[in-house]
Amino acid sequence: MSAWESSTQDAGSNIDWKENLPSLVGDLSSWSEHIQPIAEKVANGQRLTLSDGLLLYAHPNLSEVGRLSNCVRTARFDSYAFFNSNVHVNQTNVCVLACKFCAFRRSKRASDAYSLDVEAYLEDLAQYADFVDEVHSVGGLHPDWDVDHYESLFKASRQRFPHIAIKALTAVEIKHLSQLSNISFKETLQRLKDAGLGSLPGGGAEILDDGVRAVICNGKESSSEYLEIHRTAHELSIPTNCTMLFGTIETLEQRLMHMIQLRELNDDTHGFQCFVPYPYLPDHSRLPEAQLATGSEILRTIAISRLMLDSIPHIKAYRMNIGDELAELALQYGADDIDGTVQKESIMHLAGSTTPLDHDRIRLARLISDAGCIPVQRNTTYEKFEIFVPPVVKPRVKLKMANL
Ligand code: SF4
Repeated sequence: MSAWESSTQDAGSNIDWKENLPSLVGDLSSWSEHIQPIAEKVANGQRLTLSDGLLLYAHPNLSEVGRLSNCVRTARFDSYAFFNSNVHVNQTNVCVLACKFCAFRRSKRASDAYSLDVEAYLEDLAQYADFVDEVHSVGGLHPDWDVDHYESLFKASRQRFPHIAIKALTAVEIKHLSQLSNISFKETLQRLKDAGLGSLPGGGAEILDDGVRAVICNGKESSSEYLEIHRTAHELSIPTNCTMLFGTIETLEQRLMHMIQLRELNDDTHGFQCFVPYPYLPDHSRLPEAQLATGSEILRTIAISRLMLDSIPHIKAYRMNIGDELAELALQYGADDIDGTVQKESIMHLAGSTTPLDHDRIRLARLISDAGCIPVQRNTTYEKFEIFVPPVVKPRVKLKMANL
């Protein structure tokens, strides 16, 4: 099978993936004593608890945590690893908020503030339109752009580029539009969906703990508002992603409670398709008290996400944030999805990311194959899949050399 389709809910998972777990986990005696009770739960398809998560964070053998997470990943997706062809167009950096960790936002009067009107946005997108099937658009909370503006933008975009799905607007942007337009979250989302919005990215979840949020992103949507907006989107059949920003000031318990809240919401709605855990990048932004995350902690957090989030199909290694090398390794630590060809991106790069943006599909496929996985190109909402076979590169014609 080189191409297949799936429902939005399954998002490409093997339907009976839990039945694969006992053989993949194998003999419990092959696991160290510390982790055996958790390996047993995983083999039996049982949900892990907060204290299981803490035990995994404390387990001295990181590669064993990775091995266990990889059992779950393989049960769901065999050796497949997914990517798509997308471009990020960040429509404005003007924002009425000033989250402490954010290096992207500008005040309206800043010399490098920008706001792409509908035509400028379409012109930007037109440069990539032949190579992508998704545009990912998030930006600042513009003081003058209400839901009418985004309706016009999405309608125009779908009209001009019908093959490009729109994944746009984080929960706080939805909240901002609903406040500016004086309508409910539900009406905001419904109007945007009718105008062409296909799905929501998961950004802005940060850590779903209002104490942490008061320090790192004061004024953003509350934890319960984030969950309510995503619940409402799911109820309107708008699939969404969810994220976690870690390495700021949160505790391990807060990370795990964040995951638990997301998986419980998805028990009800089945609308989260992908979880994207990414570490705080310190450069140029303002959070000196951040603890930061090392490479091994990033891999461990990705692995634990896979093990804790049994109701969310995909775990993404967000290469725009963690870099290609770590993203490749993450595919052996529970991740199955890697951000797309991403022709253009601003937010992570202003925050210090050095990941190249010029990845084409062949390079991305190589990164996936080098990690021991099979590259599969997916559509934006994880319903259509096709194994990516790189085109055969013809050997160069040898130039005749003069006898020297
Ligand atoms: S993270 Fe988003 S809401 Fe916060 S300041 Fe940056 S652009 Fe504005």
